[in-house]
Amino acid sequence: MGGTERGRELLRRVLAGVPAGESPLTHVTDQPERRGRHADWPAWADPGLVSALREAGVERPWTHQARAAELAWSGKHVVLATGTASGKSLGYQLPVLSRLAEDQRATALYLAPTKALGADQLRSVSALGVDGVRPASFDGDTPMVERDWVRAHSRWIFTNPDMLHRGVLPNHARWQSFFRRLAYVVVDECHSYRGVFGSHVALLMRRLRRVAAKYGASPVFVLASATVADPAGSAHRLCGVECEAIDEDASPRGERTVALWEPPLLEELAGENGAPIRRAAGSEAARILADLVIEKARTLAFVRSRRGAELTALAARRLLAEVDDDLVGRVAAYRAGFLPEERRALERSLADGRLLGVATTNALELGVDIAGLDAVVVAGYPGTLASFWQQAGRAGRTGDGSLVVFVARDDPLDTYLVHHPAAVLDKPVEATVLDPVNPYVLAPQLACAAAELPLTPDCLATLGGPIAREIVDDLVQDGLLRKRPTGWFWTSRERPHAGVDIRGSGGEQIAVVEGDSGRMLGTVDPGSATWQVHPGALYLHQGTSYVVDVLDLEDGLALVHAEDPEWTTQPRNVVDISVVRTAQQENFAGGVQVCLGEVDVTSQVVGYLRKLPSGRVIDQVPLDLPEQTLRTRAVWYTVSQDLLEAAGTEAPRVPGALHAAEHAAIGLLPLFATCDRWDIGGVSTALHADTGEATVFVHDGHPGGAGFADRGHAALIPWLTATREAIASCECLMGCPSCVQSPKCGNGNEPLDKEGAVAVLTAILNVIDTKTA
Ligand SMILES: [Zn+2]
Ligand SMILES: [Zn+2]
Repeated sequence: MGGTERGRELLRRVLAGVPAGESPLTHVTDQPERRGRHADWPAWADPGLVSALREAGVERPWTHQARAAELAWSGKHVVLATGTASGKSLGYQLPVLSRLAEDQRATALYLAPTKALGADQLRSVSALGVDGVRPASFDGDTPMVERDWVRAHSRWIFTNPDMLHRGVLPNHARWQSFFRRLAYVVVDECHSYRGVFGSHVALLMRRLRRVAAKYGASPVFVLASATVADPAGSAHRLCGVECEAIDEDASPRGERTVALWEPPLLEELAGENGAPIRRAAGSEAARILADLVIEKARTLAFVRSRRGAELTALAARRLLAEVDDDLVGRVAAYRAGFLPEERRALERSLADGRLLGVATTNALELGVDIAGLDAVVVAGYPGTLASFWQQAGRAGRTGDGSLVVFVARDDPLDTYLVHHPAAVLDKPVEATVLDPVNPYVLAPQLACAAAELPLTPDCLATLGGPIAREIVDDLVQDGLLRKRPTGWFWTSRERPHAGVDIRGSGGEQIAVVEGDSGRMLGTVDPGSATWQVHPGALYLHQGTSYVVDVLDLEDGLALVHAEDPEWTTQPRNVVDISVVRTAQQENFAGGVQVCLGEVDVTSQVVGYLRKLPSGRVIDQVPLDLPEQTLRTRAVWYTVSQDLLEAAGTEAPRVPGALHAAEHAAIGLLPLFATCDRWDIGGVSTALHADTGEATVFVHDGHPGGAGFADRGHAALIPWLTATREAIASCECLMGCPSCVQSPKCGNGNEPLDKEGAVAVLTAILNVIDTKTA
């Protein structure tokens, strides 16, 4: 069977069970086969390494691997941004190991965002057996007794940003011989450093370069990335050095059929405020998975939550039990937290076909060696196109076709995507958003940097520029730094590193503890504690549900007990927003103003709803919790009374129209910024005290911002156009989760005026788009 036919045939089988006239397909396309292009091994490559790679099955490198390796070898910083399973590892293994083989004292550092990926890469480098390199991991799991050995003898250290920040840089004197010879820094999966975490890592990279320079080294950065727009720019923002990008993928790929799929509306169920709802993406994925397993197609189903992955596997097994008992055992769930051996056993079974179907969270997304499958089901947009294509890229054997099915969840972004195929299939992948001059990130990072080595004016130039200088002055005033003729010095004996959480959760975490056993289940950001773990809240941990008994904000503790009630909880809050500083402002003649700036978002959780799975509300429970204020960045627009009236939106409809426009805009921003709808928030009001007009704000959810509001501002017209489109094209009558309802609305999704939102957005776009035209 030819390539395309295989994918098409699988799709036909999957559709066979769908009732006639109810096709969930919104779009199908065939992507052609790509032939691989080989290069020769470079003359400088270490012969021992080349024969080890040959033995491992790599006869010759692909051209993109060879070009990246060549640049890195010649001392240029390089970012290799190609698809899943395109062999990015070889692009850095070749120059790094050749250098370490040639110069018996040279060292290298490898950084991965997750321990699992680091462990995989360490295993693969160790297997190549290059003499005298002694690759070793150095992370939180490395036993104390081994750490001295690793520091003294390993020439290629595998770690993560957390350990580099807390364990390596603050103790750089003990690492002098390692830093002195540091030839390469490998930053793997660098597109995952985004938002606040990305901002921290960007400054961490600058600290690393500063410490290396102190010992006379200026390492070459080799970055590996998913395919993203502007990889060179993203790499430069992350590492602070000019990088050349290699983004032409020369690895072969089989033909691929991509299907966009929208689950049907359920007639028998109604959601919040009587809105129609769709069959859940997870159950739909389970049915597709079962059908594909019956066809003996090796399939991965990506589901957004861990619990969802388990439920999807379970549902698929139940469906298979009705068909063939032998198939039941050939479907499994994969979750984070598996031991490495468990993971590898599962990967092997999937590779050799003993397992046919695996439902997984995106834990499998990062680097794990699974590719060449017959089919991939993506249930729910994974947040970025980069992730989407990384997941889809698991499908596709050379010489044989494969199928990718994207199943939309019931939310505005997913709905928009299945109805606008070009946004998935033809759009360049988003650039990674991070903001290395966020003052909330910069201040603690500058403190860490000063504690490592005194800051000089030159350092400040690379660590944030003029704003860094202002922050340093503040740190001097607070007595944390002292200015001397040679620079700024950290004054305390205690280093600041332990108190700086680079994952960007903002301050002391609230510990979630099981009251009876005292077992700590997890942590919650202080900023979202009253929302997530208020008394009475349902808290999910690894598939088990708990109910919160007490939230003690002062001691940073939430006490819970295991309980699996039939309801879920949904907090209610009141939110207020005030403008602190307007950084940019544009006034349009038609009655629209667009601004970007700093805001204070004050919110208070005032109660919660208990809801049955059907969406029916049991009751509303009031709560007495303190207000919380978040200073962050926002983009906002105002609409004049005249324009609202001209758009046919009379005064009573304005709040619902703006609220609906705000929800949908939050849902669609991830299309333009690499964020999740949970990274951002919004406020809309018919009359705002600071602007004096009807106003819609969309703000970052992190202190100081993470660049998302800025990105929304930069992409305002396409963003609002997509928002308008998403609402207008939804087939519901009065608004539903696919268009204007939001799962995180603190106001119970009221009031919402779908038609009014379309009218207001159309009017705004007419005004602001004319000006640019
Ligand atoms: Zn709708
Ligand atoms: Zn709302």
